[in-house]
Amino acid sequence: MRQTHILEIIQSLGPITGNQIAEKLNLSRAALRSDLAILTMSKLIGAKPKVGYYFIGQDLQKLKTMSFDTILVGDTHSLPIVVKENSSVYDAIVTLFIEDVGTIFVVSEGNFLEGAISRKDLLKAAMGGKNNNELPVSIIMTRMPKIILTTPEESVLSAAQKLLYHQVDALPVVKSVKEGVNTKFQVVGRFTKTNIARLFVQLAES
Ligand code: ADP
Repeated sequence: MRQTHILEIIQSLGPITGNQIAEKLNLSRAALRSDLAILTMSKLIGAKPKVGYYFIGQDLQKLKTMSFDTILVGDTHSLPIVVKENSSVYDAIVTLFIEDVGTIFVVSEGNFLEGAISRKDLLKAAMGGKNNNELPVSIIMTRMPKIILTTPEESVLSAAQKLLYHQVDALPVVKSVKEGVNTKFQVVGRFTKTNIARLFVQLAES
């Protein structure tokens, strides 16, 4: 009900800011956060920084059928955390802590995917007794073409099935780039179990 109401407000008054919508509904901006997220993800509305929310969708039915198989990876993924192939294992461990992630993707020049390193890969390397400052990540990473990928266009359900089926915590979100007969994959995001948990809570709360 509330989402339909928000949609009507945006349709007649948009572009309109979150605060203005909240005012019209006599609610706090925070109370609207999950509703606005659902409407944005379902592509019924768009959001522009400093402008506000504007109406896109014609199809209210879509809102009723919104679920994990209609929401796309592109609507929910996080920013990718990457290191270069020649980075040391030590640097990768520091990145893991600073960025607060569980999986780091390894890229070559141009942000092309070469591999993935999980926290257990790094733990194993740290226990190996070698000098982690000199050991490059390329030695310990899982490398292409073994990496399981997702794209912004894939459904969240299908990407979640990949995470479970392949027993990994994160998938790189990629865009393919043709180079002659080869296809390379540029890393544009990171899709993890946290994205699924967040979406689950947003859907449940709405
Ligand atoms: P951890 O081993 O720390 O629990 P994962 O379960 O994600 O984390 O990783 C298991 C193994 O799979 C690791 O060796 C890692 O390099 C590799 N890996 C991580 N992500 C992917 C992916 N998207 N595709 C293929 N292999 C991956």
